[in-house]
Amino acid sequence: MAARLGHPVAPRIRVRLEAKKESFDLSGFQLKITDHRGRSVAGQSAVSKSTIRVHCSGDQLKVQSLDPGKTGIALLPEKIQIESATGVVRLENVPHRDRLVIYHAKGLSRGCEVVNEMDLEEYLEGLVNAEFSAKWSSEAVMAQIVAARSYALFQIHAAKANPAKHFDIESTVKDQVYGGMLKEDAEATRLVSATRGMVLSASRFSSKAMKAFYHSTCGGLTELPEKVWGSSEPGFHSRVRCEHCKSSPRFSWSLSVSLSDLQKRILDAMKKEGLPRDWEKVISSAEEFSKSARLENVAVSGANHPAQNHRLDDLILTWRWKGGRKIVPLSAHTFRMWMGPDQIRSTAFSMTAKPNGYFFKGLGNGHGVGMCQWGAKVMAEKGKKMSEILSLYYPDATLRKFW
Ligand SMILES: [Zn+2]
Repeated sequence: MAARLGHPVAPRIRVRLEAKKESFDLSGFQLKITDHRGRSVAGQSAVSKSTIRVHCSGDQLKVQSLDPGKTGIALLPEKIQIESATGVVRLENVPHRDRLVIYHAKGLSRGCEVVNEMDLEEYLEGLVNAEFSAKWSSEAVMAQIVAARSYALFQIHAAKANPAKHFDIESTVKDQVYGGMLKEDAEATRLVSATRGMVLSASRFSSKAMKAFYHSTCGGLTELPEKVWGSSEPGFHSRVRCEHCKSSPRFSWSLSVSLSDLQKRILDAMKKEGLPRDWEKVISSAEEFSKSARLENVAVSGANHPAQNHRLDDLILTWRWKGGRKIVPLSAHTFRMWMGPDQIRSTAFSMTAKPNGYFFKGLGNGHGVGMCQWGAKVMAEKGKKMSEILSLYYPDATLRKFW
């Protein structure tokens, strides 16, 4: 059995539900609004059912009661906390556990940040059916829960380094998809409880959670974090051959794209995100480039090693600009994000030129780091245990019980 470490209780997690929301309704049984010191504000007490509208569009945070017989708008501090007597607060009618915290960025961009603070184990109950499905074999779901708990705990620790940040984790694909209590069910609750406190750490000597990435379908081989995001992560030293995801509907993919579509998507993404660093040396103005550059050719860089890894590191793009040629590298991961991760489903692809465009043929779906979700599902269906699934996909990690 895994050793118990110095975490007597599950920590709380701060999940960012909204980054910039201008006006929204909150409801719950006897809503209580408090400031950052826990002092009651806005006189929202002793009403059995409360609904409030929060306005974040102006210079001040305003709250208006929508309960019958109550009118008027209260001006509030920049940070407020909302709780209810039943422990459930509805944001635009979607129920959320425990507490919502609202931050108003004064004088800066319009809108409020909305953060849901709750117990990490309760968060996982809502996550199960958003990120995967409680209907999958129990051992696979439990492996997923342990990975998700580890990832979340890693983010809780990482956020402590930046006290100005109001949240630990995003509720979108940027971290883990979370939609509140609507997705909770009895099976999700049972499986979270069965793995309570179980966390992957980077080694036998580490007492911290590791960033246990996972993805849909690896396509036969998992990937290292440094190959995707450019920096290594503790606990990932080995790629893993996976024999289990061949039956995934996402095991392989193909796509035809015209050269003009490729050009448009790359230039549109560049307008939003700026020039990749390697490009700054050869391109003087991102704005001018995005207006007048013409994409001439896309090729797989000769620096890739297909014998060792089916994923690509770099592509080479040739542009026509200002009467000359500009030849620049682009990481395969950035290319995938810019083209749309649901179009170029992985960086394990080959490409062939066709008239006015390219044909892409690829394997797997997702970044490929850590656990292959489809592989875990198939392993569990074949009778493998949670610990066997985790030790295949996280061969360098140690499973521990933290609380
Ligand atoms: Zn796989």
